[in-house]
Amino acid sequence: VTTVLSPDDRTRLIASATAVRERAYAVYSSYQVGAALLATDGRIYAGCNVENANYPAGICAERSAIASAVSAGARAFSAVVVVTVNGVAPCGICRQVLNEFAPDMWVVGVDTSGHIHFERNLRELLPLSFSRADLA
Ligand SMILES: [Zn+2]
Repeated sequence: VTTVLSPDDRTRLIASATAVRERAYAVYSSYQVGAALLATDGRIYAGCNVENANYPAGICAERSAIASAVSAGARAFSAVVVVTVNGVAPCGICRQVLNEFAPDMWVVGVDTSGHIHFERNLRELLPLSFSRADLA
């Protein structure tokens, strides 16, 4: 797979997602997740998962990162790196939320050893997506 991330951006994103993963509030699942978004201006916004006693009230790391970025004024993104113990891909809800802002973003799944498990365009992870363009 051809990557669109520069080696420098890749290193920065992995470091950021790995660091924020340590702050995950995952007291129920013990499944810590860190996500780092690369804005088109080069800035990075990170987020971790925040669980809740009412399980559905929890939020994933990817959406946590989006909320942080949007709160800081960023809305255009080129990539997201997600770090977990086993390098998995974002869940369906997070794919939808990422798609709202950057349908062509590059998505990378990395494990805690820094090994890349997959990387591809969000369009491949969310085919036939529903977006604001569908709201006629
Ligand atoms: Zn999710």
